[in-house]
Amino acid sequence: MGEAVIEVRGLQKRYGAIEAVRGVDLRIEHGEVFALLGPNGAGKTTTVEILEGHRARSGGEVRVLGYDPERNPVALKQRLGIVLQRTGLEPYLTVAETIDMFRGYYPQPLPLDDVLAVVGLEEQRDQRVRRLSGGQQRRLDVAVGLAGDPTLLFLDEPTTGFDPTARRGAWAMIRNLRTLGKTVLLTTHYLDEAEVLADRVAIMVRGEIVAEDTPTGLIAAETETSIRFRLPEGATLPEEFGHHETTAGRVEIRTPDPTRVLHALTDWAIAAGIALEDLTVHRSSLEDVFLRLTGEEESKDAS
Ligand code: ATP
Repeated sequence: MGEAVIEVRGLQKRYGAIEAVRGVDLRIEHGEVFALLGPNGAGKTTTVEILEGHRARSGGEVRVLGYDPERNPVALKQRLGIVLQRTGLEPYLTVAETIDMFRGYYPQPLPLDDVLAVVGLEEQRDQRVRRLSGGQQRRLDVAVGLAGDPTLLFLDEPTTGFDPTARRGAWAMIRNLRTLGKTVLLTTHYLDEAEVLADRVAIMVRGEIVAEDTPTGLIAAETETSIRFRLPEGATLPEEFGHHETTAGRVEIRTPDPTRVLHALTDWAIAAGIALEDLTVHRSSLEDVFLRLTGEEESKDAS
């Protein structure tokens, strides 16, 4: 296997009769921010915990920084930062004391000031953990994961429960990690977060990776544009506009040819004396790609 930070081939995990991971291949390079996405139960946590060395696999090959995590090598542990969804930190320690405590566990920790700067907690350095807001506590979780100056950082849903401002702050922090040259494996349920932060994204459904590319690559492969508007009461769209969906008074037409369809649509509306209220034209987002891919897989399973 080559020089990648994470290299996985044919990974499998069974829990009794449940096949949670069914032949996953992954390659994550140095300095990449890689997002693993998928609906609940897709096998993301199982995959990530196998990479972290917290679960044994049923089959396949795994190398993290050149090591097999299942053998639990100390040299690997010293180079990993793991930020779980919930971390229990000592409430009466200050931010600086907490980070220093974790720095003490590693042979070559990151300087305290650098950790504080990356996570944006300089002003809170002498504040007690119990006095931090939820968003600040989550940043401290990341600070603790960074204390040992890891090469690879696992971030599990880093912004769940954040308000929009706190999320933007966390995004800035993750960008700082990239500037430091860290490799980050991120799991998130927020598609906009993955779209903004990740160099590459893999979408996992029922134990398999169904798509993997840059966010722009995944979106560019979507051929349809969505045209949305509201029709006045009593107006109906002519049949020529083909299949369209209506929800709560809004009409959506999905088309690979928005120029022609918009022309025909506005022509029809002007001739009929109708205003197309709230008319918008959307390119697909990563969320559209995700919903299509996960929807297709679910219906394959149902058939
Ligand atoms: P979520 O987004 O909800 O966290 P996930 O993609 O992380 O989901 P996993 O937690 O990896 O999914 O679970 C994948 C499948 O394996 C699910 O069907 C789950 O019920 C099953 N599973 C996970 N852990 C265990 C376990 N320890 N024992 C038995 N089954 C498990």
